[in-house]
Amino acid sequence: MTDLDYYEVLGVPREASKDDIKRAYRRLAKKYHPDLNKDDPKAAEEKFKQVSEAYEALIDDDKRRIYDQFGAEGLKQQVWGGQGFDWSRFTHASDVEDIFGRDVFESFFGRSGGLGGSLFEQFFGGGAVGRRRGPAAGQDTHVEVELTLEDVARGGRKEITVRYPMTCPACRGTGAEGERLVTCPTCGGRGQVSSAQRRGHSQFITITTCPKCNGRGQWPEAPCPRCHGDGRLEQDRTIAVDIPPGVPDGVRLRVPGRGLAGGAGAPPGDLYVVIRVAPHDRFVRDGDDVLIDLPISVSQAALGTEVEVPTLDGRSRLQVPAGIQSHTVLRLRGKGLPRFQGRGRGDELVRVVVVTPTRLTAEERRLLEELGRSRGEDEGARGAFDRFRRP
Ligand SMILES: [Zn+2]
Ligand SMILES: [Zn+2]
Repeated sequence: MTDLDYYEVLGVPREASKDDIKRAYRRLAKKYHPDLNKDDPKAAEEKFKQVSEAYEALIDDDKRRIYDQFGAEGLKQQVWGGQGFDWSRFTHASDVEDIFGRDVFESFFGRSGGLGGSLFEQFFGGGAVGRRRGPAAGQDTHVEVELTLEDVARGGRKEITVRYPMTCPACRGTGAEGERLVTCPTCGGRGQVSSAQRRGHSQFITITTCPKCNGRGQWPEAPCPRCHGDGRLEQDRTIAVDIPPGVPDGVRLRVPGRGLAGGAGAPPGDLYVVIRVAPHDRFVRDGDDVLIDLPISVSQAALGTEVEVPTLDGRSRLQVPAGIQSHTVLRLRGKGLPRFQGRGRGDELVRVVVVTPTRLTAEERRLLEELGRSRGEDEGARGAFDRFRRP
């Protein structure tokens, strides 16, 4: 299965957007739905798996980057979600509902209340794709956190805010004020509506899920004022995360059990904290090292000087030796970032930049001319050409 061209499987170009990929997946997942392929359910199941594998790989930016560079083999080397594809994670009813959309489910299975664990067994004949037994665990979620370089240097505990969906406590998820539901006026509580059409001597009756109540058969008497009838709210929660010192940009930290809530009696998913390190106004990060430019004057360069340079933890004195050339890099040992998952610290690399003065006072001009004369720099054309000698 690893020889698949995922783009080909989904029928999308290599530069397809996430929306394109999602759309293609929805279309193909419906197409290979075993219920619609009764003549050859085995082939449909195989196709469905391929389409899902391709979708899993391409919808995730990290995985897609790896896949584009190294192919499916490269993805196998990654540690995300265990070895290769963890099918048990993908076959929760909640994931499927999310992808298919409620409308599809209800037209296939009638009322959404019937959405249970047996769904995939119906599809694939009893755990054929390795579905995990018991109630569905909650989904994983992720949040980005932006750190300064100083945060990275210190590491330690940081509080972040995560937005979770929750069942509206006021209406307990019914969407109805005071949980008062009435019989759906459109379908009369049946959850389905039928329309009859006469053609010649025959009458055709089409039965569809009630569009008003989505097949529930009930309808809020008045929408819940707290959630406006959604039955769900979003809630911000503060979570303390331990930032490892020296953490690189783009790393995902896993916080177990802080993902979305699972079904009754099921564990919650995990939270992934994606580290983003903000650009610093002074330092450039290079792994464990930090780089900084230090402008000095021509006379400081020639005579040598001692200067103060900023570091990640305050200021530090730096000896600039006499006769230093512009763009020479001086090293402040141990003034860089802590080594991620290692010992010690990187260095601060100070690049000395000699700044040539552009505006001279009369006195400065006189002094520089005098300096030039004393160094024999006004010998005319021959001296000038001598400067271009090969070293
Ligand atoms: Zn509510
Ligand atoms: Zn209805």
